[in-house]
Amino acid sequence: MKIAVINSGSSSIKFKLFDMQKQEVIISKLIEDVKEDSLINLLKDIEDIDMVGHRVVHGGEEFHSATLIDDEVIDKIQQLIPLAPLHNPANLNGIKIVKELYPNIPQVAVFDTAFHFNMPKSAYMYALNYDMYEKHNIRRYGFHGTSHSFVLQESAKILKKDIKDINIITLHLGNGASACAIKNGVSVDTSMGFTPLEGLVMGSRCGDLDPAIVLFMQRELGMSVDDVDKELNKNSGLKGICSNNDVREILQSNDEKSKLALEMMIRRIQKYIGSYMVLLQKVDAIVFTGGIGENASYIRDKVLDNDVFRDIKSFVIKTDEELSIARECLNLNLAI
Ligand code: ADP
Repeated sequence: MKIAVINSGSSSIKFKLFDMQKQEVIISKLIEDVKEDSLINLLKDIEDIDMVGHRVVHGGEEFHSATLIDDEVIDKIQQLIPLAPLHNPANLNGIKIVKELYPNIPQVAVFDTAFHFNMPKSAYMYALNYDMYEKHNIRRYGFHGTSHSFVLQESAKILKKDIKDINIITLHLGNGASACAIKNGVSVDTSMGFTPLEGLVMGSRCGDLDPAIVLFMQRELGMSVDDVDKELNKNSGLKGICSNNDVREILQSNDEKSKLALEMMIRRIQKYIGSYMVLLQKVDAIVFTGGIGENASYIRDKVLDNDVFRDIKSFVIKTDEELSIARECLNLNLAI
């Protein structure tokens, strides 16, 4: 069984072809300079694909697990575009190109939001007027689901426990970053919310914020909706504080603002760990992943340097979102 995984984003396309019997990557490609025909050129030389798995960022309330794609599914992903205006169109583009090139190969959508689908309602509701949820779908969805779920599966092997008996706090720390509280193998809370903007201090995203700041920026600073969007997503986080979003470089700098940026990031992570400990009550491990979580031991040590969680086991797992997507496709295939 050969499964191709396509992560078709707005600025890059990641492609991997897996031989699932051997659990091996046969082809791996990264296109960073995306042009209209990039994916077509990449795919037309590849033969022997049994199935294609696509990362789709937003599954809304519609999709709670990997889903075989048909026209109805494409329509529904299209309808979710207002919830993920940057991501879902790029993901859909990948699906449509494969459909045109290889109409007979089954395609599967694997959603970033799906792993968090079973969060309790008290976790996913915002304390807004109930109509905002019922009429406008404003609620917390959570993201990075394929990574948190992959880390959970690998943690089960390390802890030698059944997934359903595992309580862990997973920290996906990359340019985008999120924490997840996993109780008995189920995501019960996560730091990203309605969009990937909420939660931790990220590369260029602010994370948690008093929402009145958004109003102030518009009312008092005369910023447009697009200005504010750009400010919070692209000019904030580590980059906003110290003009750099590359943790490798920030760690080398002695500049006060660089130190402050890291302290803010670490403090926010610690606050999430503390609150998730309260939710989980018993924590088997704190697990780090993502470019920062996997490589920056200084950050991991600083995060863990706290009497409240010093004695909790912690380890690093290299995330593999593409393998996680391929595994989901394989599991689905058995059920078809
Ligand atoms: P993305 O969310 O874009 O996939 P990654 O998971 O690749 O991001 O993480 C990128 C972050 O990881 C950057 O801030 C980068 O500086 C950091 N990083 C990568 N390698 C190291 C390292 N060896 N030491 C410290 N930070 C690192």
